[in-house]
Amino acid sequence: MEKNVMNPEKFHPDQFDRGAKYALYFELGPAAADIRLPVLLVRGSRPGKRLVVTAAVHGDEYEGVRTIFEVYHGLNPTDMSGDFLSVPVSNPPAFWNGTRTSPLDKGNLARVFPGSLKSGPTSAIAHYMGPSIIARADLYLDLHSAGIHWLMPTMIGYDAGDARSRKAAEAFGAKVLWGHPGMAAGRTVTFADQQNIPWLYTEAHGAGRIDPEDLATFKEGVFNLMRHLDILPGTIQARPVECHLYGDFDIDKGLAATQRGFILTEVNLLQQIHTGDTLGRLCDLLGEMIETYRAPADGVVAMLRGFPVVEPGEPVFVITGLLPDDPHHA
Ligand SMILES: [Zn+2]
Repeated sequence: MEKNVMNPEKFHPDQFDRGAKYALYFELGPAAADIRLPVLLVRGSRPGKRLVVTAAVHGDEYEGVRTIFEVYHGLNPTDMSGDFLSVPVSNPPAFWNGTRTSPLDKGNLARVFPGSLKSGPTSAIAHYMGPSIIARADLYLDLHSAGIHWLMPTMIGYDAGDARSRKAAEAFGAKVLWGHPGMAAGRTVTFADQQNIPWLYTEAHGAGRIDPEDLATFKEGVFNLMRHLDILPGTIQARPVECHLYGDFDIDKGLAATQRGFILTEVNLLQQIHTGDTLGRLCDLLGEMIETYRAPADGVVAMLRGFPVVEPGEPVFVITGLLPDDPHHA
């Protein structure tokens, strides 16, 4: 094997000398279509906790990729007590294809954990990435965004049932927090939860671009988490919380189009809405309205369709609630 290529089953960050950075690939083998998974590790000069960060679990979400590259290059191991372990591109076939899911098997890497070697390349990535990367975390952060097709507020999502997760979310320092009472099966964060590892994930505007403000929030957030874990010295610099959401999030359970069309959205992100309010309409190529989307409950717009062309079955809106004690709760 080449010098910087490893079998993931033989990888453990503790094998690497302290006080240095390591850039390597995991060779995932034939069950994963011979995908090479990029891994960036910074071993602090002194022992401590380990922050694990992943990005591009969905292949069209780019903010986290650049965040990991910039954090990796910006860290100085001599400042660190503990480690930064990261996968900047978690689903390389989807990433190179510019799509949320993999062109090899249509797999959604955020739905297949803990994975298997018998269910296609995407599931095989999960099979290797769970034990070798996520399970090594004292705190796990998965960097998502709204991708090419949707829009979401820049936010940090946490496990509302785990005080460790909520404290870490507050330390991350985003303007929008979202507490989740539960998380659906198959997620990266569900895998972390099953290992009793506190987890966080992000969302951001997406649209196939990297908004400089989103990049700044993500980078500051990762550094804040390293301070929170005492991996880095210094004080946490959190942005004031403007909105605290509470409720489940599953894009697959949002309002979906039932036919092909061109969407006209009529609400904004984080807008408060009431049951029955019109969120948007779908029209055909003559501009005739063919479908109307109405709020299924009182709440806040957490996600909306950004890319205006929709196919049947595609999610167009997600509504959630506000944390009851939130001062912005009207
Ligand atoms: Zn995503």
